[in-house]
Amino acid sequence: MDTVIRLGVFVGMLILMIVWEIYAPRRPLRYSRWQRWPINIGLSMITTLLLRFSIGGIAYFSALLAAEMQFGLLNVINLPVWLSVVLALVLFDLAVYGQHLLLHRWPLLWRLHKIHHTDLDFDVTTAVRFHPVEIILSLIYKVIIVSLLGAPVVAVLIFELILSTSALFNHSNIAIPVRWDRRLRWLLVTPDMHRIHHSTDQRETDSNFGFSISVWDRVFGTYTAEPAMGHDDMEIGLSQYRYSPTVTLKKLLLMPFKSRV
Ligand SMILES: [Zn+2]
Repeated sequence: MDTVIRLGVFVGMLILMIVWEIYAPRRPLRYSRWQRWPINIGLSMITTLLLRFSIGGIAYFSALLAAEMQFGLLNVINLPVWLSVVLALVLFDLAVYGQHLLLHRWPLLWRLHKIHHTDLDFDVTTAVRFHPVEIILSLIYKVIIVSLLGAPVVAVLIFELILSTSALFNHSNIAIPVRWDRRLRWLLVTPDMHRIHHSTDQRETDSNFGFSISVWDRVFGTYTAEPAMGHDDMEIGLSQYRYSPTVTLKKLLLMPFKSRV
């Protein structure tokens, strides 16, 4: 049941963003969708298949186990359920912010995460462009966080939904009026805010690490409000990887394991 809900919300949000991108795009795409989409969707399909037959539901089960064994912070201190859920959601988001920072700062992890940043354009399919090994590592990280927190099962389910919908939303190429973007940005990571993280300008790549709520970047001093070249002219991707957007899936999958970084 939980898989049906997750898949339904994901597909619904994906379709909504694609339609919005077609009718009201934020920026004209520089490359054709036919060049980038097979790569991005191909990567996501490999990961989905891999997890389906391995450890896909492990975060959920670790929450069940922690509750059963009365393990983890929120299982030890006695709070009202609603407060435990809210606290778990906020702390999960902080943990994802920390994980993203680590993916950029630790060279070994950067080898994996850079696959996400080698996309030469920015649209909703960028949200699913990840190396499968990065997804597996982040799942293990999630299990550790869930167990230490003793997060309620319902919080894990809600957070999975928040994470996938906010990733699709903040990677999309949708036009949102600037005044609305400003208002939304007080709480949420908007596409204009996250696109800056995909800039070829290293100072901008090393900022705006937040995934769902924008507050962590402001608190920890990693916030960039506007790209230096402006939203329309900024370059997307990594300056050292300006290859053809038709790079093969195989090449991308092997990229982290090549000695030359
Ligand atoms: Zn990143």
